[in-house]
Amino acid sequence: MARIGFVGLGNMGLPMAANLCRAGHAVVGFDLSEAAMTGLEAAGGRRAVDAAGVAAGAEMVITMLPASRHVREVWLGGLAAAARADAIFIDCSTIDVAAAREVAAAVNQPMLDAPVSGGVMGAENATLTFMVGGEDSAVEAARPVLEAMGRSIVHCGAAGAGQAAKACNNMLLAISMIGTCEAFLLAEKLGLSHQALFDVASKSSGQCWAMTSYCPVPGPVPASPANRDYKPGFAGALMLKDLGLAQAAAASTGASTPLGARALELYEAFCAEGGAGTDFSGIIQMLRGQG
Ligand code: NAD
Repeated sequence: MARIGFVGLGNMGLPMAANLCRAGHAVVGFDLSEAAMTGLEAAGGRRAVDAAGVAAGAEMVITMLPASRHVREVWLGGLAAAARADAIFIDCSTIDVAAAREVAAAVNQPMLDAPVSGGVMGAENATLTFMVGGEDSAVEAARPVLEAMGRSIVHCGAAGAGQAAKACNNMLLAISMIGTCEAFLLAEKLGLSHQALFDVASKSSGQCWAMTSYCPVPGPVPASPANRDYKPGFAGALMLKDLGLAQAAAASTGASTPLGARALELYEAFCAEGGAGTDFSGIIQMLRGQG
């Protein structure tokens, strides 16, 4: 079992660290929030006095922080320097590809970008998908630890490839959610029932995850957030953040992503109108209002 340092014990990080404790790893953690530190102790971990303090003796150091700025601050502000020379670094935060590559190059030690999908439920149930960028040997060394927190570990390529996969996937998800909403709204105008459209599209060429798992109208998929007043789920604010990262990547590479750009505008409007804390499928209500 490994000694693991963990910084960032929020909605995602705390249940992930708890699963590492449950798997028998010795976890030392740090978060700016006292409630998070108490939560770690309740899960069987130990607290450090600051972010660099988690690194003492750790074979692996993991971060799960809000954004690029925090990842830079924590790793380059003392965490990497305090670690063992053979420690493996893993950042699971969702950040921009360029920042992931920059931090990995600056720490001068094996570092993986390993953003996740699966949300808080996936973190709690250890069913996350990890999209991993970095060297083969570091990925293989980290795999058993990642497996204690997730069900699927996909090695996507060199440093930054995990963040690249996340940005591409979530841009596609936003576009397919908006498309799914538009199809249901057109069906309403045409007098076609939600169930009839679902029964056809979920089994034909319009099929997609946004429809079959997060169906934006109540009824056809009983577990979808639409059935509980769009309680997340995956909050609009997180989708907006991921679309911003995708557009930053598109701008820096010259990729043509007109629908990704439009999806960003629509989710900006959705969040500005109060959708930030509701599920991203709730954008159907804004689109219906525009009709
Ligand atoms: P969160 O805000 O709940 O947790 C972040 C934690 O980091 C907070 O507890 C905060 O106190 C801590 N923190 C910030 N700066 C710190 C510092 N300098 N030192 C120590 N701790 C610090 O966020 P979250 O929902 O857990 O998300 C974390 C990351 O995972 C984000 O990058 C997010 O985009 C990504 N993500 C979230 C979800 C989700 O459903 N919540 C799903 C996939 C990916």
